[in-house]
Amino acid sequence: VRKVIIAGNWKMYKTQGEAAEFLMEFIPEIDNVPEDREVVLCVPFTDLTIVNKSLHGNRIRLGAQNVHWEDCGAYTGEISASMLTEMGVRYVIVGHSERRQYFGETDETVNLRLKAAQNGGLIPILCVGETKQQRDAGAVEQTIFAQLDRGLEGVDLRRLVIAYEPIWAIGTGETCEAIEANRVIGIIRDRLSDPQVTIQYGGSVKPSNIDEIMAQPQIDGVLVGGASLAAGDFAGIVNYK
Ligand code: 13P
Repeated sequence: VRKVIIAGNWKMYKTQGEAAEFLMEFIPEIDNVPEDREVVLCVPFTDLTIVNKSLHGNRIRLGAQNVHWEDCGAYTGEISASMLTEMGVRYVIVGHSERRQYFGETDETVNLRLKAAQNGGLIPILCVGETKQQRDAGAVEQTIFAQLDRGLEGVDLRRLVIAYEPIWAIGTGETCEAIEANRVIGIIRDRLSDPQVTIQYGGSVKPSNIDEIMAQPQIDGVLVGGASLAAGDFAGIVNYK
């Protein structure tokens, strides 16, 4: 059975004070979430300490949003896997489209980060997905296969999560139809040598569309941006039917 993982990606939102406020409201809402559902919060580095403290004694897992491929060195502004695990981090997002688009992340640096995350004991969440232009040009498969084939060279599929995030559906309110997300995730799964990898969908996930998304047979979870920022919305998502 593939693991179900419901993850929030806070992106560059929430000071420590705002994070503490979120948790006070969110934690009482998740008492009845089934045990076989992993709930993950991928927060800014500056929120890791406070979120980790507030998770003590409950079942949320801590995640980060990036990791460098060296363990230490002269890499101003970067953070390594051992620095993250020491803070209680279990998961880390790698290759989010915003990092590829604004920070020059390539399939090659994504690959280095994935391997470093795994070597350091973290479970990376690899993000893949096509732009609107690539979709309109009929290049969905070609785009995603290139991201997978280059990104996953030498990566252990047993310690990996993949998130299919069509870029045109991120932060736009325009959700990819659940059936279409299911189809593309099926294609991703067929490309992998291990069919047991947890594959999430991401892009304008909300309490109002989570039931339909999670009812799809290929979709094992979601990576939620905007709707993970409000405790009530994210609680509505993790408590899907
Ligand atoms: P939204 O849920 O805000 O569309 O963002 C999705 C995303 O990028 C999650 O990583």
